[in-house]
Amino acid sequence: MEDNHIYQYSLLNALMDGVSETGIPVSKLQTKGNQGLGTFSRMNGELLFLDGKVYQLQAEGNIREADASDQIPFAVSTNFVPQQTTTVEFRDKNDIETALDGFNAKAANLYMTYRITGRFEYLKCRTVRGQQFKGESLSELGKRQSVEEYENVSGTVIGFRTPKNWQGFGVAGEHLHFVNDDRTAGGHVLEVTAQQVQMQMALVANVHIELPTNADFNAAHLVTDDDGVKKVEG
Ligand SMILES: [Zn+2]
Repeated sequence: MEDNHIYQYSLLNALMDGVSETGIPVSKLQTKGNQGLGTFSRMNGELLFLDGKVYQLQAEGNIREADASDQIPFAVSTNFVPQQTTTVEFRDKNDIETALDGFNAKAANLYMTYRITGRFEYLKCRTVRGQQFKGESLSELGKRQSVEEYENVSGTVIGFRTPKNWQGFGVAGEHLHFVNDDRTAGGHVLEVTAQQVQMQMALVANVHIELPTNADFNAAHLVTDDDGVKKVEG
């Protein structure tokens, strides 16, 4: 992997369609950079890839380190090398977008990736509980997701931002996952406030997409559902 190139497995549209039985093994994702996010087979929890380790962020905020053979039906990762490091305050989640916009005025139609570290005053995270039947859509799963709140917690947020008006094949606009320093809590970030955290950012102009070759992917409709994505990914 070249620095700040994105590797993506499958398409968000396929995940929205519920295509999540199989994919690449954890051991393969571990060769695709140093940070990433995604989900596991049957969308059982959120995936966070950080410095060689892949974590499964499960309902109720439980965490387990994934096995090398666990299947990943959707993931995005990069070999992150920061191009800018700043100290930032987040009054709410929108301030992340503001910080990204401030980094480079010509990045509206580029991907960005970032890492935020430090003490967060407040975090609201969700974890998907997993499909109850094969092919259940991500929109349905969003309706019974597990939501946890954390206060004064130290940890790391990994994020990817898709070009603003181009979300169909992307990673749902602003998409970020959190894990605490103890690796005992985390999830997909819905809300965040922080008085002073470190934010590192990089632009991405190269995206490598690997598509599944299985029958489920072949049968997926892949219709872009921006409203559905917005609802479930926040
Ligand atoms: Zn997520």
